[in-house]
Amino acid sequence: MQQVDTTRTLLLTQGYEPIKIVSWQRAITLWSLDKVDIVDEYDAEIRAVSFVVRVPAVIRLRKAVRRHVKPVKFSRVNIYARDGHRCQYCGVKCTISELTYDHVVPRSRGGATSWDNIVSCCYACNAHKANRTPAEAKMKLRSIPTRPTWMPAVQIRVSAQSVPDAWRDYVYWTGEIDHDEGTDLV
Ligand SMILES: [Zn+2]
Repeated sequence: MQQVDTTRTLLLTQGYEPIKIVSWQRAITLWSLDKVDIVDEYDAEIRAVSFVVRVPAVIRLRKAVRRHVKPVKFSRVNIYARDGHRCQYCGVKCTISELTYDHVVPRSRGGATSWDNIVSCCYACNAHKANRTPAEAKMKLRSIPTRPTWMPAVQIRVSAQSVPDAWRDYVYWTGEIDHDEGTDLV
């Protein structure tokens, strides 16, 4: 069998939601068991005695599975994900390093550090709002913050440099999740 350097396959639910990364051997096994369809392939080939197949880059479960729903962890990156990486005041889309979080009702006024009082915020808006409520600062929230019920792809750990092109349509997260995932607010 030929040595392949594209060794990881992205596994999706039937609904195209990323579940996890598996080895290409596991991907081929799942495929040979008719459990998955191959959505996308790498150029690399696997040569066996009687067949040649391309290495699966993305596979998708044939059946819908009921996934155990864990509560979404209250963390900085998950707040950014909930808010679509947009400042909830000016609406600008930011990278994680350009975002901070804002207590809608300031902590000094008894505002809680919780899903419904924390929003993603760019540094400029954060500085402008300072220790005021949105009404006092005449800043309008773009959405009412709530606890999200699920988070796409948030458990998948990949780095921006190593995301195969074939995954980009499915993997929402890149890079920073390795560093920031699970960083709890204090
Ligand atoms: Zn802003």
